[in-house]
Amino acid sequence: MKNFIPVSEPMLAGNEKKYVMDCLDTNWISSLGKYVGQFEDNFAGFCGSAYGVAVSNGTVALQLALAALGIKAGDEVIVPSLTFVATANAVKYVGARPVFADSEKESWCIDPADIKRKITHKTKAIIPVHVYGHPADMDEINGLAGQHGLAVVEDAAEAHGALYKGRRVGCFGAVGCFSFYGNKIITTGEGGMCVTDDNALAGRMRFLKDQTMDHNRKYWHSEIGFNFRMTNIQAAIGVAQLEQVESFIKARAGHEKLYRELLSGVEGISFQPRAEWASPVYWMHSVLVEKEFGMSRDNVMKKLKAAGIDSRPFFYPNHVLPPYKTNEVLPVAEEIASKGINLPSSVNLSEEDIARVCAEIKKLKNG
Ligand SMILES: *Cc1c(COP(=O)(O)O)cnc(C)c1O
Repeated sequence: MKNFIPVSEPMLAGNEKKYVMDCLDTNWISSLGKYVGQFEDNFAGFCGSAYGVAVSNGTVALQLALAALGIKAGDEVIVPSLTFVATANAVKYVGARPVFADSEKESWCIDPADIKRKITHKTKAIIPVHVYGHPADMDEINGLAGQHGLAVVEDAAEAHGALYKGRRVGCFGAVGCFSFYGNKIITTGEGGMCVTDDNALAGRMRFLKDQTMDHNRKYWHSEIGFNFRMTNIQAAIGVAQLEQVESFIKARAGHEKLYRELLSGVEGISFQPRAEWASPVYWMHSVLVEKEFGMSRDNVMKKLKAAGIDSRPFFYPNHVLPPYKTNEVLPVAEEIASKGINLPSSVNLSEEDIARVCAEIKKLKNG
């Protein structure tokens, strides 16, 4: 078999090793040390936010934001059904109930019209997700939130650097939450960050993530907090990754363009639409396999695998998963989820890799 093309692998070709060695050489391997604060400041600056609070992963970034906003048992939080399960899980972790909204065809992100239908007197927050790097319609969402007094927490775990009407995502809600998992736009292995412009909220998140340790009275804990701290080693990798983020985003945009060019004439293959408000980043190169393609989505994935090309199905809509099962039909989310494939999406893909993937898909089409 030819070289295997994975769905995603990180690229650690910058100063990662140098900064990690600095941690090891100086014994600063835990969550104290200069890289944590540096990464927080640099990443908040990248997003155009005032404050960054580093945490151990993207899931707890969402949990921390909700906890700091006082979301609790009895509350409802509206989330898209079409997302990674972490979004809904974070709502459950603070004792609240996720309420699932459908997606828009125009962007695959949460549909503001369905959010509106799902607001009740218990609704306290909305978590839009910038799915696969495409920004959700933040003006519409913030408009609804303003009318109903709801908090907005952005799940930007897949969208570092994406622009909504010219501004980076993460700074449109009360808190923007990011993941630095191994396959994300930049990685620290495992890691996450909350960004906010609200000084008090940033302070509240710092307090909660560090076991509510009192600054003036060591080992005095006035509330039940968490250990969500990021280590200096993770942050060191993050600082180095962030130095390269613009080139990563640019490379990914080039890959998307090539995929679209090479698959442009293929009937039954369609790409994530780009809404007029959006300058997406391409976390995943994603296509829908329509009926006209003449082969099922799952079969396409199987055949690609046999040809040495890895791919992933889209997330299941969360409202069909056992912990969250409801009887409702969310037609757009269900349709997108059943047709979608994430193609190889590493930042270090070569043009030859992409050409090989597209040639293989065309071969399947032509029988
Ligand atoms: C990756 C991801 C997360 C969770 O991040 P982890 O760092 O894996 O905990 C949350 N939401 C979405 C939409 C994601 O893609």
